Amino acid sequence: MIGILKGMATTMKHALDGNTFTVKYPEVAPEVSPRFRGVHKFSQERCIWCRQCEDVCPNDTIQIVMDEQRNGEEYNLHVGQCIYCRLCEEVCPVDAIILTQNFEFTADTKDEFAYNKEQLKNVPWYKGSDPLEARNPDRSAWVGEGAGEVDYQ
Ligand code: SF4
Ligand code: SF4
Repeated sequence: MIGILKGMATTMKHALDGNTFTVKYPEVAPEVSPRFRGVHKFSQERCIWCRQCEDVCPNDTIQIVMDEQRNGEEYNLHVGQCIYCRLCEEVCPVDAIILTQNFEFTADTKDEFAYNKEQLKNVPWYKGSDPLEARNPDRSAWVGEGAGEVDYQ
């Protein structure tokens, strides 16, 4: 009983202090943590096709196709199957695959969640923020390059 009263007192205290912790989504885009794990973004220009991301992925979410000369041809990632562990980003030696803070993705079928390299390149930054900049200040090149000078293919 005392626990219930304490809980209600805490609820009333926060209900009456005027602070708001929610937003009217989607009219208002919420803030998310710099460490939030959202949809991936891929840069073919950075990628050296080492396949480490494919190897480290615990549930075969990434599929890389290469030709006989070991040139990369396809980079596919099923964002609906991913568990957002971020191992692919951590293992990548050149920051070619990163998790943005973008959580806004929908589809009518599961197959539409299988993104190819072009779709992954075009995943928008959430509120224009580069998550690498927040996580590691030395790796801040993504947003500037994505604005036009470097074409992420
Ligand atoms: S975040 Fe984890 S599960 Fe998703 S693609 Fe990367 S390694 Fe695989
Ligand atoms: S995204 Fe990174 S880890 Fe994956 S193949 Fe390209 S360079 Fe290697």
